[in-house]
Amino acid sequence: MTTRGCPYNCEFCCVSNLFGKKIRHIPVENIVRDIIDSRAKNFMFLDDNIIGQPKYAKELFRAIKPLKIKWVGQASISLVKDAELLQLASESGCKALFIGLESVSVEQLKTMRKSIKDIKDLEIALKKINKMGILIHASMIFGFDNDTEDTFKDTLRFLVKNKIGTVSFNILTPYPGTQTYCKLENEGRILTTDWQYYDHNTVVYKPKKISPVELQVWKTQVRKKFYSLSCVLKRLLGNLNNPLIYLALNYGHMKQVRIEEKRIPFLKSNLQRLMHPIPVKPEYEHEPITSNIYQ
Ligand code: SF4
Repeated sequence: MTTRGCPYNCEFCCVSNLFGKKIRHIPVENIVRDIIDSRAKNFMFLDDNIIGQPKYAKELFRAIKPLKIKWVGQASISLVKDAELLQLASESGCKALFIGLESVSVEQLKTMRKSIKDIKDLEIALKKINKMGILIHASMIFGFDNDTEDTFKDTLRFLVKNKIGTVSFNILTPYPGTQTYCKLENEGRILTTDWQYYDHNTVVYKPKKISPVELQVWKTQVRKKFYSLSCVLKRLLGNLNNPLIYLALNYGHMKQVRIEEKRIPFLKSNLQRLMHPIPVKPEYEHEPITSNIYQ
């Protein structure tokens, strides 16, 4: 990790609250020393946004380039707005980037602090990154207030059309302390505060335009289609720079989809019970009522 903190304070994210809004960084010479001392050649930088301070990132990339390492990390799509930065990232050994696209709904993107809010521009940006031999791992979130059934179809279409390497499909998770949590709580839409289910994969609130069950099921269906064998092979054509990494990562996700699918009947029935709790009989009314169906 080379930096901590993020100034953007996105509504759904807890990074600014946890790590502060000011970006701090480790001196570049310390990172170079640690890399050399480790004698390793493959690295994962865990920064929330390794290019958060472009000037520092350029200095870092220039310094690690002679070390001939391979690295993966997390960066914002604004990387493409600085051609030199993108070039340096690639030359320093960047092989894959986790990029938070979050949504491909123009309506939703307008409400977010994203540097690219137009779908065509987003496609051009992704192509530029891919052209540099960097595999894209996109992060998508379902369950925003603007999301409808079409959002799931449009998202899948976009990801396949642009031959995205791998994707994390997340369900909006209202972490305590975030603006999203405050809003949903004020509107009485939080379904459970059993934190073990705040895992990006389980619906814990009432979405606005779709039902909780639809959100839970459709998210899994999109993931299943994206990681189907035919879709993996189709997307391979856009990821021939890193075919082995691409296939290994996709294989891992294919196995995870099977596990996720097995959870669906359990989650569906629990969500239905939570949305329509059985009235408590008068003789039991003195007993504590838990609205937490997951216990
Ligand atoms: S989502 Fe990314 S840009 Fe937004 S606050 Fe979190 S780390 Fe920062």
